[in-house]
Amino acid sequence: MKYYSTNGDKHPASLEEAVIRGLAPNGGLYMPERIENLPVEFTDKLGEMSRKEIGCTVGRAFFGEDLPEEVIEKIVGETLSFEIPLVKVEERIYSLELFHGPTLAFKDVGARFMARLLGYFTVKKEIKEVHVLVATSGDTGSAVANGFLGVEGIRVHVLYPKGKVSAIQECQFTTLGKNITALEVDGVFDDCQRLVKAAFSDKSLTDRMRLTSANSINIARLLPQSFYYFTGLGELERMTGERGKVVIAVPSGNFGNLTAGLVAHKMGLPVSRFIAANNRNDVFLEYLQTGKYIPRPSVATLANAMDVGDPSNFARILALYNRSHAAITNLISGYRYDDVSISTVISDVCSRIGYTLDPHGACGYLSLTESLRDGERGIFFETAHPAKFKDTVDCFIPGGVKIPDTLQAFMKGKKQSVALSAEYNDFKDYLLSL
Ligand SMILES: *Cc1c(COP(=O)(O)O)cnc(C)c1O
Repeated sequence: MKYYSTNGDKHPASLEEAVIRGLAPNGGLYMPERIENLPVEFTDKLGEMSRKEIGCTVGRAFFGEDLPEEVIEKIVGETLSFEIPLVKVEERIYSLELFHGPTLAFKDVGARFMARLLGYFTVKKEIKEVHVLVATSGDTGSAVANGFLGVEGIRVHVLYPKGKVSAIQECQFTTLGKNITALEVDGVFDDCQRLVKAAFSDKSLTDRMRLTSANSINIARLLPQSFYYFTGLGELERMTGERGKVVIAVPSGNFGNLTAGLVAHKMGLPVSRFIAANNRNDVFLEYLQTGKYIPRPSVATLANAMDVGDPSNFARILALYNRSHAAITNLISGYRYDDVSISTVISDVCSRIGYTLDPHGACGYLSLTESLRDGERGIFFETAHPAKFKDTVDCFIPGGVKIPDTLQAFMKGKKQSVALSAEYNDFKDYLLSL
């Protein structure tokens, strides 16, 4: 399978090139040239299949030409090694809990898949060592670091701003050891990002060592996110004995998660429509309403993983529907919620139903309560465990959120990090010393 760039490309990339490069040379995002239709015998039987069986069938449709069957099975099996339960919250509204992976957020799925795929290509090409550089303001670092933990041939260097990430976030990438090193940069997130970018464009460095990014725009992080759209529908069928009309609400920031759902829909995912649930960063909603896409700086909200003012995957959504506004609005509707609505609904759902929403899932839940029509059932994605946003969520629910054991375990680990200044030369010396 070839991968084209959303900026147009005379030379589409192989899977291997697309995964190693992340971004196409012309600045576009990679998309698969073909999206295979899955047979109805598969989509009709989701309720009878295991997570791994579903993941392998979808994975084969994407990667069957490029990867041997046993490699797909191994990578999918390891990627989906945790539960993805569907929980009934109230009549017709269900939460698909995507937060049971090692870092308690849905990004674990894409990060684990990509790490293993990159590991496979590294071994296959007999590359001695690949260095993954990732700048983080908190959540990406932990998903990437944990995804790559123990993957042979790969060393990960997580750059994070000293004193600017929460204690819970910090322990998730500073306590791992093995092939993961945390670099505590005396600066802000933008400094971390600048250092990483400078390293990628420093030829004297890239001639000596193989550097790659594990950016969220990597196609190998995006496509595997379609797995749980299918497994979620399977769970719904098992739970209710039927399917009916299903609406899926996706709390969205950079729109990778929703894009994976749209790809799944092209493959035959039996869903009638999608909702993009946003916080006050609502450029996509504006596009749905007006047909105009006007990026702007992000504003800070309680659902901070969705604070994105220019979602990169918008280009992929346009590409999927040949830039047709009509086709896009036909399938996707949008909703936006401010911090007051988010905090009110967290408190309300907790006291009324006893279910704890996180600030991102809260937007998804709200959009379903507002938009479900007769005969429809809705699934919203719970994209992170509420304990990841404990400082926020505890303000709105009595007693506070209980920290799950997996997170406790991180917090007991010993913090290890390398202190760095925000000067590029210091970062370069560090890399050259490896
Ligand atoms: C990253 C993230 C989102 C946004 O996902 P996109 O794929 O960027 O739209 C939503 N919720 C949580 C908790 C996240 O970490």
